[in-house]
Order: sequence, then structure tokens, then C-alpha cells
Amino acid sequence: MPIAWFNELSKTDIPKVGGKGANLGEMTKAGFPVPTGFVVTADTYFSYVKRMGIQSRIMDIVQNLDVNDTAELQEASKRISEIMVSVPMPPDITDEIVEAYRKLQKMRGEQIYVAARSSATAEDLPEASFAGQQATFLDVQGEMELIKAVRKCWASLYTPRAIFYREQQGFPHDKVAIAVVVQEMIKSEVAGVMFTSEPTGDRTRLVIEAAYGLGEAVVSGSVTPDTYKIQKEPLKILSKKLGKQHFKIVRSERGLGTTHVDIPPLEQNTQKLSDERVLELSEMGNKIEAHYEFPQDIEWALQEGELFILQSRAITTLESKAEEGEVSGELLTKGMGASPGIGAGIVKIVMDMEDLPKVQQGDMLITKMTNPDMVPAMKRAAAIVTDDGGITCHAAIVSRELGIPCIVGTENITQLVKDGDEITVDASKGLVYKGRLALKEEKEEEGSVPDTRIKVYMNLGVPEKAEEYSTLPADGVGLMREEFIIATHIKDHPLKLIKEGREDVFVSKLAEGVATVAKAFAPRPVVLRLSDFKTNEYKDLVGGQEFEPKEDNPMIGWRGCSRYYSPEYEKAFKLELKAVRKVREQHKNLWLMLPFVRTLEEAKKVIELMKAEGLERGPDLKLWFMAEIPSNALLAEEFAELCDGFSIGSNDLTQLVLGVDRDSEVLGKMQLFDERDEAVKKAVRMIIDGAHKKGKTCSLCGQAPSNYPEFTEFLVEAGIDSISVNPDVVKKTKRIVAEKEKIAKQPFTLFGFKF
Ligand code: PEP
Ligand code: MG
Repeated sequence: MPIAWFNELSKTDIPKVGGKGANLGEMTKAGFPVPTGFVVTADTYFSYVKRMGIQSRIMDIVQNLDVNDTAELQEASKRISEIMVSVPMPPDITDEIVEAYRKLQKMRGEQIYVAARSSATAEDLPEASFAGQQATFLDVQGEMELIKAVRKCWASLYTPRAIFYREQQGFPHDKVAIAVVVQEMIKSEVAGVMFTSEPTGDRTRLVIEAAYGLGEAVVSGSVTPDTYKIQKEPLKILSKKLGKQHFKIVRSERGLGTTHVDIPPLEQNTQKLSDERVLELSEMGNKIEAHYEFPQDIEWALQEGELFILQSRAITTLESKAEEGEVSGELLTKGMGASPGIGAGIVKIVMDMEDLPKVQQGDMLITKMTNPDMVPAMKRAAAIVTDDGGITCHAAIVSRELGIPCIVGTENITQLVKDGDEITVDASKGLVYKGRLALKEEKEEEGSVPDTRIKVYMNLGVPEKAEEYSTLPADGVGLMREEFIIATHIKDHPLKLIKEGREDVFVSKLAEGVATVAKAFAPRPVVLRLSDFKTNEYKDLVGGQEFEPKEDNPMIGWRGCSRYYSPEYEKAFKLELKAVRKVREQHKNLWLMLPFVRTLEEAKKVIELMKAEGLERGPDLKLWFMAEIPSNALLAEEFAELCDGFSIGSNDLTQLVLGVDRDSEVLGKMQLFDERDEAVKKAVRMIIDGAHKKGKTCSLCGQAPSNYPEFTEFLVEAGIDSISVNPDVVKKTKRIVAEKEKIAKQPFTLFGFKF
């Protein structure tokens, strides 16, 4: 059956007419005020793509597509759309649609406009949510216009966003279809959306968003609507936030689709929906939720004093996530929490497509409003904040699907921050703070962080933070970069201080900084990594120019161990060791780590130097090597014999295994630096196995597990002994490790035997 009328459908018809079609049918039957209409069924779509030989052409295009490559994704989408728009519908299908359209006109007794709305559905996957991904065509009039709109709806099954989403969720493209809802168009004075439970998880409240004109303005996020929060039982308006609406979308007088009309300044800030209407609509929302026995996301419209329900669907992403902690700090701006969670990081402002590559994993994506082309970059962001939009705009929908904290409708975030700033986002409350803030003492009990066999350490360089972070449930500090103290507390190049006879300044300041951390964390170990500046960085220290050579490739230049035993630097290295000795007089929990150990010979040389300065490894002093050069992986066992353990530096290891300069902007934009590459993982496994063969411990302190939970899981599987992460993800990492350890421990059954 190519066509089904609303009153013939119910909620069980999702496979046939998609969620939207089935729900409109269900609501029509249940007596809710739904504008009349019919659905061009999913089977009609399948019949079109199969009979016209389109399906196989599409599959060829999407087969080996890299959806994270924005350009490639867009090109594929464009090619598919061209096919769909150029291959005509078989005449029998056209006839059926035209006949239904004529019947609808007759029923209403006048020439009416219709809306053609995509209603996606997936064979065998009725629970899949494709909400908000496909096209809607408003104000369609005339038979041929309707046929065109239906074909465009079909083509919208392959928008970049829809392709990306299905790849993400693992839905096969050829099992998904579009049904098209054809429905009398409502010429609304006010319209919007209603969430019968708050998207951030509070089920006792509902939220309504309203804007002048057609609801399209709210759904697309092109205006900032009014937001009303309502207590559901008994009904009561809790808060009203009036959005400043500069324009509205209305039906154009000549039936040529929709158009934007400016709103006079005096009307922009007025309340769009009266209190009585808000309560009337809320009551309807409560009834619809009760009917479905599940929170609903509803589109509504007000036309000539009458409320209409245009669509209702379950809120698939509603989940009351446990708050990770509380943030406090200097407030920058407020918006609406559209997807819960907390994130902190570096601001990247995206104003157009060219800005997308600069968004790196863990950045704060700041924009006016997102669009489908931004999805791959959104996936990399740790949080998203927009100027415009409400809780059902694109940014809100996609971030909820991706599980990324998101705040929309701040009105001014793009003005308040610039690239490189750091901010913290508490999306559960819609608040944006200045700077990268630490989470307040967690509300949860300490005991709620699971115990893990694998130790979780933190990376900490700034002594000022030691006291605060020492309360986190970390097993110690797995990486303390000495460079932080030199750059921020000492500031002078060590060789300059020596030349001036001020060695003491270097030793005492370094010792002071290290001791602060060792004391705060005692008795837990603190692994101090001796200096690992590169020549370009040493040059930036006061007086550095005089002592540092010019190198074309400082990343693979005079750094790490090679520096320690070279005649030019040896005397400064001895000062580092002197400071360590001083701290260890009181804090025996201070362990040592050598960076960038290129060869066995140089490792031995440095060990000798240390011994001569009274620092010999033994039961009382652990000495680790950073394992961050391919030579460390290839000769893991041999290196392991010279130390007590490794800490894998996945940053440098990735750089050197893949040949990707980690500082290169060009390569960064191309996303070539990726620790999850198989070659890098193989090197990591070699290092872990090499350490274990010699009975030594193996840790990892690069950035990868702080950024990618899946990398943490990989490390657990690979048999790592400890992982050192950024302070803000210590608890999260503990939980990931605990989960993974649990799975590993579960016995599995084969032929009735437990293993
Ligand atoms: C690493 O290389 O992974 C590491 C932790 O050290 P750094 O980033 O200081 O080179
Ligand atoms: Mg390194």
C-alpha cells in the first residue's frame, strides 16, 4: 500500500510509516488535535529505490566512505541526492500520491497547503531514533510540487548528517527508509516544541519553547525562543525566559514556500504564549505522555486561537545522568542546558566550514549554531556552546545523541571568548565559567569510586594544585613534568644561573616545588620526570638564547637523556639531581623517571651520573624510563633490565611511530596524530610485554587515555599495570578500568564448563 491515512494508523505501524507517521496516526485515533493527512509509506520508498536500480548505486557510494572526512562525506551525500532527484518515480506511485492529495483537498473543501515531512524508519529496528535528521518541506501546493517534495524527502535520507549518524550507530544504510507524511499546513501565529520531561533528566517538569510564526524557526535553532518551565503535578509555571526574536518564519503570501519577516523591536521581547495557553498546552502534554506512558518531544502550533499537535515522539536520549561534580568559579555566561554533563577545555570558535579542522579532540566548540556539516567536529568536542537555539535545535539534538555536554542560546558566547581561551561548561545547569576549573569535592561518597587492580595515577605539573588534587582518589602522581616548575617558578635558564653563580636559586626553587607535590600526595608515589625541554623551549627561558643551539627539528634534537650527559649541560643536570636529593631527605615517596631514552648506552651513562650524585635505584628509590621512542619498544626487554618500570609516553611514541610532528599545525588539521592507530598500539603492547617479561611494571602517562575512553579499555586489555591521566578524568578512568576489569574477570562458559 503506497498510501496510508492517519486514521488508519497506530503506533505499531512504525516499520510501515516511521515514527512520525505512526505517532500522528496514534494521536489522531486518540482524539488529539492533529491536522489531517496521509503518509507515503516506507515500502513506497523501497519500491522506488529497488525498481529503479538506485539502491545498489547508493551502496557503492557509501561502502568505503570515511565519515570523519567532512569533504568526502559531503561529496557522497551530494552524489546520492543527484541520483534521487534525477531518477523519476514510477507512474503508478505518482498516481497514488496525487490521488490522495486530491482527496485531502476535497475533504477540506478548499485549496490547502500541505507540509511534506520525512519520517524515517529502519527495518527490524523500530527503536532507532532518526529524529530531526531528514528534510521537511513546508507550504507545498500543487501536485507536481508535492511529488518533488516527496523525492527530496527521500533524498534527505542521505544527508551528511544522516549518513554519519547511521555509521556511528551501526545501522545498515540499505535497511533504512523514508516514509513521507503529507499533512495540512498550519499557518501558525505562534509555534514551538514541548518536552514533557526536562531533557536534563527531571521528569517532574516539562519545558515549552515558543516563537512567533512557524515552528520551523524553533526546531532549526535559527531564533532564540521563549522557554517556559512547568511543574507537571499540579500544573504550575515555574519560570519564563523570554527570547529576543528578531524575525519569524511565515508562509509566503503567494504560496512560494516560507519567508522570513522582521519583528519590530518592541515586539521582539514580548511573551509569545499567554500563561493560560502555556497551561492548556502543558495539560495536553501531560495527556500525551500518559497516553504513550513515556516522555514525549512534541511539536505544536497555535492557529486562530486553536492549538494543534504536529508531531510527537519519545525522548530517546532522556536519561538522568549522575552529576559528575560541582563547578564553581567566575561565571562567563548562561544558556540552556541541552545535553547534560561537564566539560573543560580550549575554545575553538567555528564561524564557517573552514574553521572545522581546528577543533581538536577535547576542545570546546563555540559557534552561533551548529549544522549537519559540523557533526564530525562536534564529535571531537568535549562540550558545545552556541549563541542561538533552544532545546530542540540541531546542536541540542546531536549533542544528546553523541552524549556531549551542550549549552544553547547563550546569545553571546561567540563574542565573549576567543580561540585559545579556556572555559568550563556545566551543561546540566546551563552555565559557562572562565578558565579550566577543577570540580568541587564530589558529592558522591569516596566509596562510590570503585577499587581497581590497575592503579590510576594523575599527571600533575603545577605544585599549586597539589593540595586540591590530592583529595582525588588517585593512586599517586604518575607524571610530574619538571619543566613546569622551571618555566613558572625558576624562569631563568639553569646555565645562566650557573654562570652567575646562582646555582642555589635553581636547586632551592626546584626542590620547593617538587616537595610540595610529594608532601601533598604522601605516602602515595610521585614520579618526577627529570627535565625534558626541547632547545626551542629552553631558549624561551630567561637567558636561554645564549646557551641553546638552533635546531631544525627540536622534537628529535637535544632533549632528554642525551642532554644530561653532554658536557654543555651536565652541570645543570647535576643541579636537578641535587634538588631531588634534597626533597628525598624528607619525602621518600618521590620516584624518578628519565625521559627520551634513545639507546641502552645513554641510559647506562645517565644511571652512572645519578649514582655518582648519590641517587641509585634500589628498594627505596624506584627509577622508571619513559618509553616513548620506537627503540624502547623494539628493545623493550633490554631497556627493562636497566630500570624498575616504564611509563609509556604515547604522545612522543605516536609522533615517532607515525612520523607525525606533534606540534605541526598542518598535520594536526589533517588529524594524522592519532594514538589509536594500530601501529602505535602494537608498540604499546610490545613495551608492556617487554616490561613484564623482565618482571617490571608498566604505566602510561601520555594524553591518550585522558581523551579516549576506548584507549583506556585497550590498555586494560593489553595488561597495563597503571595509567596516569589528567586530574579531571581520574574518577572516570577508575570507573572505565573497573568495568573492564569486571568483564575480564567474568567466567565464560563453553560446553557447560566455566573458565
Ligand atoms: C609523552 O610523550 O607522551 C609524554 C607524556 O611526555 P611529553 O608530552 O611531556 O613529551
Ligand atoms: Mg614525551
